[in-house]
Amino acid sequence: MEPSHHLYVHVPFCRLVCAYCDFVTVGGRAHDVGRYADALRRELDLRPAPGELRTVYFGGGTPSLLDGATIGAILDAARVRWPMSALDEVTLEANPSSRETPDWDGYRNAGVTRISLGVQSLRDEELTSLARGHTGDEARDALAAARAAGFRDISIDLIYGIGGQSLADWRDGLERAIELGPDHVSCYALQLALQPDEWAAPPRPGALRWRDRMVRRQDDELAVDQYGIADEILAAAGFIQYELSSWARPGHESRHNAAYWARRPYTGIGAGAHSYDGAAERSWNERDLDAYLTGVEAGERPVAGREELDHATRAFEAVALGLRRVAGIRRSEVLAEFGEDPLDRDPAAVDEVVRAGLLEVDGDRVTLTDRGRLLASEVLLAFVPEVAVRR
Ligand code: SF4
Repeated sequence: MEPSHHLYVHVPFCRLVCAYCDFVTVGGRAHDVGRYADALRRELDLRPAPGELRTVYFGGGTPSLLDGATIGAILDAARVRWPMSALDEVTLEANPSSRETPDWDGYRNAGVTRISLGVQSLRDEELTSLARGHTGDEARDALAAARAAGFRDISIDLIYGIGGQSLADWRDGLERAIELGPDHVSCYALQLALQPDEWAAPPRPGALRWRDRMVRRQDDELAVDQYGIADEILAAAGFIQYELSSWARPGHESRHNAAYWARRPYTGIGAGAHSYDGAAERSWNERDLDAYLTGVEAGERPVAGREELDHATRAFEAVALGLRRVAGIRRSEVLAEFGEDPLDRDPAAVDEVVRAGLLEVDGDRVTLTDRGRLLASEVLLAFVPEVAVRR
């Protein structure tokens, strides 16, 4: 069997562009959707990569602005590029807005197996405060429609840390979400700090003003408590946390995301999409929609940048991505791959986070504790080589 490969397809179009969003998105370009879908298929011809395709993820933006026939045509083009007989998950992100009427039956016919709904909240006051273009009722209807179309794997995204959202509000929103009967729940903190790197889109001027107002209403301590009760509520409803932000009913974990955390190779197509060769090279596409389109239409690979990962960076990423999983990492595996026990990098710093109750070492297995998951970025500092040198 060939090694596994994974495909991410970025669809940047959104009916409304949300002020808090850092993804590569464009509003008001619905007329370019067909042209973009053609470019995605052409890009597949320009991007040879070895392996057998195991998962596909249509993310955005709003992939549900594409109809089922278009999604099917992109999957057909991928089938020409990679063997797909072992394909076991095709996810499509969808907006639960009645004005966007996702083509649920078309997606099923095209081979989509999993839907990720951008519910964000089931409380209308929170959706209004986030300036989302849907209501809680529309989210309920969308999930019911996806179920009626036959989807057995439905995930919903929820946001906490919204200014003005109390602990009781978050609990109420989570309980309403569980009543919908999703198979998977992702809970994300509302992140308003600007991300000045190649992953994030530059902020829009109107969005900056909105962020500035919202950030003054946020309460970091409350967000920590909100994260803390999420597991309690979801676990009581039969969900198992398997990653920092992800809970699933048994058997409904995201296989595509698991591939990222396991550092499997993936190809990202579309404006701003990232790719990783599974070894030492990461690259990212042109994010500007027009530059992306004209480049691909001229037969050029739309790669805007590349990064060679050195040994120390790869070893750190193995630890950082591995610790995102509740199952954590095995020291012996890191040692076998990188020639270094991760606990030896800075033993004093590791000891400190262990004594603080943030990290647990059980023989070969290293995991974040419940509290460590709340403070994951602090724990990871114990494994960053440059920080160890400065101590
Ligand atoms: S949050 Fe979702 S719907 Fe809003 S702009 Fe970002 S990708 Fe589009």
